[in-house]
Amino acid sequence: MDIKEFIRNVPDFPRKGIQFKDITPLLANGQALRFVIKSLADEFRDKDIELVVGPEARGFLIGAPLAYELGAGFVPVRKEGKLPYHTLKGEYTLEYGEDKLEIHTDSIKKGQKVLIVDDLLATGGTIKTVVDLVEKLEGNIVGLAFLIELGFLEGRKVLARYDVRSLLEF
Ligand code: IMP
Repeated sequence: MDIKEFIRNVPDFPRKGIQFKDITPLLANGQALRFVIKSLADEFRDKDIELVVGPEARGFLIGAPLAYELGAGFVPVRKEGKLPYHTLKGEYTLEYGEDKLEIHTDSIKKGQKVLIVDDLLATGGTIKTVVDLVEKLEGNIVGLAFLIELGFLEGRKVLARYDVRSLLEF
């Protein structure tokens, strides 16, 4: 299945000069959505993943069905002030801005096998923040999965220690 067909390029969003990869056409197509979730799951099916960890908001859209497919739990990473219980905080710089992310302090037990997921890898800033939070909680990061990788931004370089998989590269 050619899933690139379902990714819409939106020039100058959210700022001039950014070529935004819009995954909503893919999310809206049942066959395409099932194909990408199964394909990402196949990359990690034999690895006994216990938890999938994904940042809001598009990391939830890919992460939760992927966790279900793998028989794993899902742990949300959210922007500051959204999670109700005790949190750990990390700061990051985005391709277009800055923000803080949080995770519940009791969401991962020491040594649990974790797969980190997001829709798209750009500079790697967001996901590196998620990696640091999971490591502080002593989760065992088995790999990182993305639907899309913007190869020219070299986000992989900040994730060199990990098994990084992506379905599509631009
Ligand atoms: P990074 O931190 O620079 O790797 O940016 C990745 C984060 O920004 C992810 O959480 C993405 O959801 C979001 N992002 C950056 N560029 C795009 C895009 O072109 N389409 C969709 N999401 C994007």
